[in-house]
Amino acid sequence: MRPVAILVAPIVGPTQTMSATTEKHVFQAEVNEVLSLVVNSLYSHREVFLRELISNAADAIDQLNFKALTDHTVLGEDKELRIELIRDDAAGTLTIRDNGIGMTREELISHLGTIARSGSKKLMQSLSAEQKKDLTLIGQFGVGFYSSFLVADSVTVVSRKAGSDDVWVWESQAKGDFEVRPGERAGRGTDVILRLKEDAKDYLNEWPVREVVSKYSDYVRWPIRMEVERSGGDEKKREWTTINQARALWTRAKSEVDDAQHHEFYKSLSRDWNPPLAWTHFKVEGAHELTGLLYVPQKAPFDVVERRKSGVKLFVKRVFIMDDAQEIVPEWLRFVRGVVDSEDLPLNVSREILQQDATTRFIKKQVVGKTLTLLEELAAEGEQEREVDGEKTKVDRYLQFWGEFGRFIKEGVYHDVDARDRLSKLLRFRSTKNDGWHGLQAYVARMPSEQKAIYYVAADSLATAKSSPHIESLQKRGCEVLLLTDSIDEWIIDALREFDEKAFVSASKGALDLPETDEQKQQKEAKQKELTPVTDRMQKALDQHVKTVRVTDRLTDSPACLVSDEHGMSARQERVLRDAGHEVPTQKRILELNADHPVVKKLAELSDETTFGDWSALLYDQALLAEGSLPSDPAAFSRRLTALMNRA
Ligand code: ADP
Repeated sequence: MRPVAILVAPIVGPTQTMSATTEKHVFQAEVNEVLSLVVNSLYSHREVFLRELISNAADAIDQLNFKALTDHTVLGEDKELRIELIRDDAAGTLTIRDNGIGMTREELISHLGTIARSGSKKLMQSLSAEQKKDLTLIGQFGVGFYSSFLVADSVTVVSRKAGSDDVWVWESQAKGDFEVRPGERAGRGTDVILRLKEDAKDYLNEWPVREVVSKYSDYVRWPIRMEVERSGGDEKKREWTTINQARALWTRAKSEVDDAQHHEFYKSLSRDWNPPLAWTHFKVEGAHELTGLLYVPQKAPFDVVERRKSGVKLFVKRVFIMDDAQEIVPEWLRFVRGVVDSEDLPLNVSREILQQDATTRFIKKQVVGKTLTLLEELAAEGEQEREVDGEKTKVDRYLQFWGEFGRFIKEGVYHDVDARDRLSKLLRFRSTKNDGWHGLQAYVARMPSEQKAIYYVAADSLATAKSSPHIESLQKRGCEVLLLTDSIDEWIIDALREFDEKAFVSASKGALDLPETDEQKQQKEAKQKELTPVTDRMQKALDQHVKTVRVTDRLTDSPACLVSDEHGMSARQERVLRDAGHEVPTQKRILELNADHPVVKKLAELSDETTFGDWSALLYDQALLAEGSLPSDPAAFSRRLTALMNRA
């Protein structure tokens, strides 16, 4: 949505005169909210305005540089790409100038008048007043350009799009609207002129600016130039100098980059307010040459699930090529942010070339491999004492990662057959062992020697899973059971089939294959035989609902439970599919009886077929309830239950 021009005709007020071509526009409502947030909540972090504006300027130069690859004329005479910081004492202004791509009139209006990213807009609308004070939430969508108003009471943007002669001026005091008018500027690019607030005038001095630049923007790959005082003899001279290292961070030796630099680089790359959780900085040499710097965020952005874009920028020989290089990052790794710089791809590489190029596949393999190694290292690290916000605390970075991004690992297990093996070791589940998270390697290592399979049960909640009748005898025998509560878990297990040559066995499907002695086996067969008249009668009574009725060794405390065929869908899988709007035919399942349960023994004594039918239906319905399903006919269920209570 573009803001509406509310005034195209000249307005003449007591203090301002506007030319006939000045237009006034109102900000989109969400921009006003961001502006008020910026000014009210971020006050104590206001130096970040410079990082944000320099980062925009560097992006604009990247874009121009990319364009110049195919069209040499765009550079013209102005070949030295750079960012300039201009301190004007007399005017009280600090200008951030770039000779990048520039903006047209329309771009000024839409880029600096609306929040384009629909996700950010949605987030903004959904936040409560309390949440809006939370810096980490604000950081999730980045305040970018609007952070200018942290230090300026008036901001003027003068811009000339590369290849155009038109210059446009955007100006605002952040009071709900902005002006757009034609202006003057020598070459292409953008000036962001900040009229500094009284208490921000410190940024008119050399050292405060230098300090902020070296703290936040030292790694920016374009030179940041500023005029500084040089005392030579008696005379004070001003001369231009470059105040950053202007060397892309990833091209430096690993040992040369410290944590603080990584934090700042990551923040400007991702617009995330939090430092990253972990990162990997790698160089590949040999047939292919490649440098990469990949970060795992601490927190999942609010739109990470819907967002299909990759967070990795592609560079070729230090030249920025594209922002979301999906071809070099599998979709399940879309939470990773960073850069990849290839020496082998052609500079004029397009999406089409990328899709076919063998180098692309090599790069992708490296990105996956290095990220997996990073995650494996985190997983091996366990709980560690670390400094968080200046305080030493015990943290398990892998579990922190798992809480935020575990679903992407599952997505990877499902879709990425090549990475499946390594990914499966990174999965974490709840289990009957204790309330913690458990990996499959640890589960297998704990298995008693007679246990052959990895057992699991799926339910809508941890509580339902824990009290599921299906796992009663497994628990009694000391077999650990994985408790799956995420709706996609069973599909992940189905995709894996086995881990470390141990099959996954659902506690609610097929036969359990419990480790048993010959004696136990004979006993079970004897019970089955003894109860055959009951199971046959029940089968008849419940014919429309169940496939078979049989005696089970699954239960110890409950009288009955329902199980699916070994290769059929579980009740939960059916429910998940139905909830997602799929049509799923109800499959008849198997009703299993606990031969030792008093209720089942009583059933055997019932001679009246009507009472027997009622009891059977009740048993069936309570088996449904225990697994989290609804009784087949809730009204009939409550009628039968009431009748039974009456009789008692
Ligand atoms: P973000 O950079 O996160 O998209 P901003 O609010 O900082 O958000 O900027 C909005 C948009 O304005 C940018 O995406 C870019 O298109 C444009 N923009 C900002 N600064 C410049 C600049 N110096 N040169 C060209 N375009 C710019």
